[in-house]
Amino acid sequence: MKSYDVIIIGAGPSGIVTGVTAKKQNPEKSFLMIMEEEKGLVPCGIPYIFHDLDDISQNLMGPAPFVKAGGDVLVDTVTEVDTRSNTLQTGSGAGYSYGKLIFATGSIPTRPAFIKGYDLENVEYIKKSYSYINGVIGKVEASENIVVIGGGFIGAEVAEQLAKHSDKTVTLVEMENHCLYRAFSADFACLADECLANAGVNVLTGSTVKELQGSNGKVESVLLVDGRSIKADLVFSAIGYKPRTELAEKAGLQLTSNGTIRVDKYMRTEKKDIYAVGDCSQTSGFITGRTDNIMLASTATAEARILGYNLFSISLLRSFSGTLSVFSTELNGYVFASAGAIEQTAREANVDYVVGKFKDIDRHPASLPGAKEIIIKIIVSPENGEIIGGEIYGGKSVGEMINIISLAIQKYVTVYELVSFQTGTHPLLTTAPTKYALVKACEDAIANIKAGS
Ligand SMILES: Cc1cc2nc3c(=O)[nH]c(=O)nc-3n(C[C@H](O)[C@H](O)[C@H](O)COP(=O)(O)OP(=O)(O)OC[C@H]3O[C@@H](n4cnc5c(N)ncnc54)[C@H](O)[C@@H]3O)c2cc1C
Repeated sequence: MKSYDVIIIGAGPSGIVTGVTAKKQNPEKSFLMIMEEEKGLVPCGIPYIFHDLDDISQNLMGPAPFVKAGGDVLVDTVTEVDTRSNTLQTGSGAGYSYGKLIFATGSIPTRPAFIKGYDLENVEYIKKSYSYINGVIGKVEASENIVVIGGGFIGAEVAEQLAKHSDKTVTLVEMENHCLYRAFSADFACLADECLANAGVNVLTGSTVKELQGSNGKVESVLLVDGRSIKADLVFSAIGYKPRTELAEKAGLQLTSNGTIRVDKYMRTEKKDIYAVGDCSQTSGFITGRTDNIMLASTATAEARILGYNLFSISLLRSFSGTLSVFSTELNGYVFASAGAIEQTAREANVDYVVGKFKDIDRHPASLPGAKEIIIKIIVSPENGEIIGGEIYGGKSVGEMINIISLAIQKYVTVYELVSFQTGTHPLLTTAPTKYALVKACEDAIANIKAGS
């Protein structure tokens, strides 16, 4: 039986970044990464395979940086882990022993077994798998009427891309009142509905799917609870993802109430020398510390760096107390970005807050070509002015502006500090220095704190 100092199960973003970081810190140790498929996809790029990218081959991602750093890779599936003998078995019948084992097994789409007809042919998912997505492309090409169930960011991005095909009718069904409801408050989320509609998507919000209907085992229509029926020769279910933890559970690892693998701040499970990272592992909310299940590549790779640096001993202290959901997407040319608390999550967690808002144009003068409206909202603790969340809508610059808010939250920056924040501005790139959007939102928050005190 071949032996490695470290074995990583999974070659998604968290497996690769953990592997590269840890191998670079520990060049003398032997590392093996086991991956199910030879070819991997950039998960976040999958929606763009359906239109903006010419070919699936333009969205490949693999462990090349890990191999370059000196790691070994095996294409196989781990089927069993024995934590007493520190060994594992693979689908091809091979066995390996390890010094340390890392679960980076990720997540898979949730199947809507509660919807009658979910198992009909041509009911598909956005799986992070090259062979699966490669198989779905032909179905997309052959379909005229496509229904996407779920208006979270993945469903919204997929629907937007599909609607760029002029020969297809694309309908998005979302049970909440707006798309992107988990990451944005209603005033921003309704703009997402608008962007999708302008992109040619038939957006049905406040609508629940009752049944998928078909004949000869193949889907033909989607029946809604209100009785409407939508013609469909292809359905994408995008109702969420669940952590892949069967292997870890079988190996005796503890799971959280959300079904993720329980870990501490350094991604260590309760079993010695066994770790879990990325979508399959526990996250804790930044403000409340409650068990959360944030599944983002940005989060997964931040955790992977923590694990990679600290695998053999804790040398780089974790600088963030919990996981911050920082998120952005672009729909029909408009960017939606959010970080940390939004109004509804603050209310749900019973957190006091005031908001600061500002609306402007992201060029100065506003008559410059390419100018777009920018709307910003920050969520602030009224007690000390700490920024705990933010949402922004606008042009491309918003995708990075949210990262300023993210840093502000993580470093406990207050609106009193940020109001005199020193920025770089330029007519073609930013709002005007006289009214930099983030600074103006802070001024508004300060005024609202004063008004409430
Ligand atoms: C369409 C889409 C768009 C997204 N867009 C964004 C975005 O814009 N920004 C963002 O931050 N996040 C985005 N995400 C989320 C992001 O993709 C995930 O958070 C990220 O993939 C998690 O990485 P991971 O390595 O933990 O898990 P995964 O990417 O799920 O990788 C896990 C890997 O483990 C392998 N594996 C599992 N079990 C075994 C086994 N027993 N043996 C061998 N291998 C195994 C799997 O095959 C898989 O390759 C998006 C996700 C999707 C689906």
